[in-house]
Amino acid sequence: MTDCIFCQIASKKIPVPLVHEDDQVVAIKDKFPQAPVHLLILPKKHLVNLNELSEKELSLVSHILSIAQKLAKEFKIAESGYRTVFNTNQEGGQSVYHLHLHLLGGKQLGPSMVG
Ligand code: 5GP
Ligand code: ZN
Repeated sequence: MTDCIFCQIASKKIPVPLVHEDDQVVAIKDKFPQAPVHLLILPKKHLVNLNELSEKELSLVSHILSIAQKLAKEFKIAESGYRTVFNTNQEGGQSVYHLHLHLLGGKQLGPSMVG
């Protein structure tokens, strides 16, 4: 997907500092952070969102969560706490249609998952 911003970041067509890279995913800092630590973990392969994942591709979600676990430790928010979110489609608040996990922490987040 040449017009997808996250494909361009994952393929390094747009140079962005990566906080993690392996054969399956990259992780970056969110351009408009909602918390002191706000990272995005995204697959190198263009996948739209959770709705689009086949049974086989669901193992990628497990890998993404393992990277979130690692980055939470590296960014020193594992003990204090953090939030992980996949937004799906319009009412889920998805604005970039390339699967990504938000990892947020470094401040007290609200109890609500909405608004
Ligand atoms: P969504 O709303 O789709 O769940 O999250 C998309 C996230 O991507 C937003 O938090 C937004 O700030 C972030 N974002 C959008 N464009 C860029 C970009 O070009 N670079 C980075 N690092 N983050 C982006
Ligand atoms: Zn993409």
